[in-house]
Parts: sequence; structure tokens; C-alpha cells
Amino acid sequence: MSAVYRVDLGAFADNLRRIRETVAPAEHMLVVKDDAYAHGLAAVVTRARDEGVRWFGAFDVETGVAVRETLGPDVRIFVWLLGGADDLATGAAAGLDLGIGDQALLDALEALPAGGPPARVHLKIDTGLHRNGIRPERWDAALDTVAALVAAGRAELTGIWSHISEASDEDDDDARALFIAAREAAAGRGLTPAVAHLAASAAGFARAPFREDLVRIGAFSYGIRPAGGPSDVELGIRPIGTVDAAVLDVADTAVHLDVGSLHGLPQTLAGRFDVRTPAGPRRVRGIEPTRLVVDPWPGAQRGQRVAVFGGGAEVTATDLAELVDTIGEEIALRVSPVLPRVYEG
Ligand SMILES: *Cc1c(COP(=O)(O)O)cnc(C)c1O
Repeated sequence: MSAVYRVDLGAFADNLRRIRETVAPAEHMLVVKDDAYAHGLAAVVTRARDEGVRWFGAFDVETGVAVRETLGPDVRIFVWLLGGADDLATGAAAGLDLGIGDQALLDALEALPAGGPPARVHLKIDTGLHRNGIRPERWDAALDTVAALVAAGRAELTGIWSHISEASDEDDDDARALFIAAREAAAGRGLTPAVAHLAASAAGFARAPFREDLVRIGAFSYGIRPAGGPSDVELGIRPIGTVDAAVLDVADTAVHLDVGSLHGLPQTLAGRFDVRTPAGPRRVRGIEPTRLVVDPWPGAQRGQRVAVFGGGAEVTATDLAELVDTIGEEIALRVSPVLPRVYEG
């Protein structure tokens, strides 16, 4: 068997339990963008649903519809990349929760043909990241539009939300103050959404006041800890994916494995980490496009399995990320789609 990406769904279920206990009484929205952080959308959302997850953060409408088709009507699916009227119509028809962060989209929603159940709108306030979100000075005008949509039975204001940098506590505190003001402005107009959500993995774990009703957690669900932050053990999570390679051939001075930079390993990692061989850790000396060059071990032979990185290896995605000054997601998301995903647990 050639190289595969092993995904331990038992470890995933443990991470989900850990997250549920940590953020309670808030609920976990499992973020599944980028093919569930490259672990494979269908298997991940199916197991999560079986473990009791009710909210999914799908990013774009196409992914949201895929989750709906996989899981059926009983889950909530939040999408926040909406290109225009077509996305709004498709998302509303699929019963998705629509994250709306600009006035033009609200206007497009108003212009859609009437009929059908009210669209579920989560209105996004820009609390400083400037990625998307209604600027505070335009919030009142947006609430006017939402109030009109609600009065006409075209929409319900289901949520108010924002995204924070999680880079410094001070910035996040400022963002939270803007968020609370926005929610109070809505309440002053009689608009009281069922859910508020603000935090992702890091603040959701570290800062209780940021949990609100829902915490949108991607990275920690998959066991990807923050670079330079607390350890897996401190967080109580572990990586669910492992890049599992095969020995291609054995020379006197090196063993070659069947993954390389084209499968997602940055070449700058050469010489800097160990893989887990049947004889224990061995240093990676070279990263070629389709091969790893590794220090030899006695009894090495073609076909033996070697764990390159991940939950079952010597190093995790975030360990590798720290060596090249990036974040664990960057390494995890580079795992090539050509490696078959193999599910266990
Ligand atoms: C990706 C994303 C998340 C999840 O972030 P993690 O740090 O992976 O938990 C949450 N909210 C939004 C808006 C995102 O884009």
C-alpha cells in the first residue's frame, strides 16, 4: 500500500467531548471549511453528528449544501461566504444559516422573490478585523433593513456574530466591547437573536466571557494546537490525522519514503525532524518532490510503514509549523488530496 492520510475518528470524538466540556454551556459549532481542514468532509461531519454536534460552520454555500445532503434536515449549517443573490437563494433553499456581513447582501436578500420560509440571518458586526462585517457606523442602517425583512416575514434575525484576531487579549477585549454594543443596539430595536457567537478555538478555550452561545471551533476539533501556545496535553486534544508513508527502497546510507514536497511537506523542513520508523525515530535528510530521504535502520525493507507527522508520529503539524514560522493549519491543509484518506476508530 502506498502513502495514505490516516484519520483517527476515535481521537476526533475525544476532541469533540473535550471541547463540549470546555465551552459548556455554550455549544460547539464544528468548523469544516477546507474539506474539514483536509480530513475529508463527509466522514468528519457524519461522526460529529453521531457524537452529538448540532451546528456546523461550512464557510461557503457549496460546502453547506454538501453537509445538508450528507446529514439531512436535523442539523444547523452556518455559511459566511456568500457571493450574491444566487448564493443567498441556494443557501435559503437548503435551510442554511446565512452569515451576512455587508449591506449589499441584505439588499440582495430584500430583492429576492418572496415565498418560502424566512431566511435565517446571522448579522456580522466588524469588530476590527476588517475582513468583512458591517462597520459600527453602518450598523443602525443594517438593522433597519433587517427589521423590515423580519416584519415582512422574509427573514428572522437568528444570530449576531463577529470574528476576532485572538492575537492579543487587549484587541480581543476591544472587539468584544463593540460586539456587545452591537447586540444591545439590536435589542433596543426589539431584535433579539437566538444565538450570539464571537470566538474560535483559542479564545473559546482560554476566555470564558467570549463563549456566548456558540463557539466556532475548527483547529482544536482536529487536534491542531496553536503555534507557540499551550501544548496538546494542556489543551486536552490530540491530532486526528497522520501522514503514513511506505518505504520505497533501501540503500546503504538512506531509506526512501513515498511522500515528498508535492504531498505537502515544505522542503525547508529537510534535516529538521524525525519520522517514526519500525526501529524508532529517524532523521529526514532530504525532501524531494515525491520522496523523503531518511537515515537508515537495521532491517529496513520496501513496504514498511513510517509515520511522517501527525497524531501517530514523532511530530505534529504544529511542531513542523513552528520550525518554519507558520501555523499548524498551514501544514495540515497542505496534505495532498492525492493521499487517500483512511478512517479508523
Ligand atoms: C476558520 C474560522 C473559524 C475557526 O477557527 P479555528 O481557529 O480553526 O478554530 C471560526 N470562525 C471563522 C469565521 C472562521 O473563518
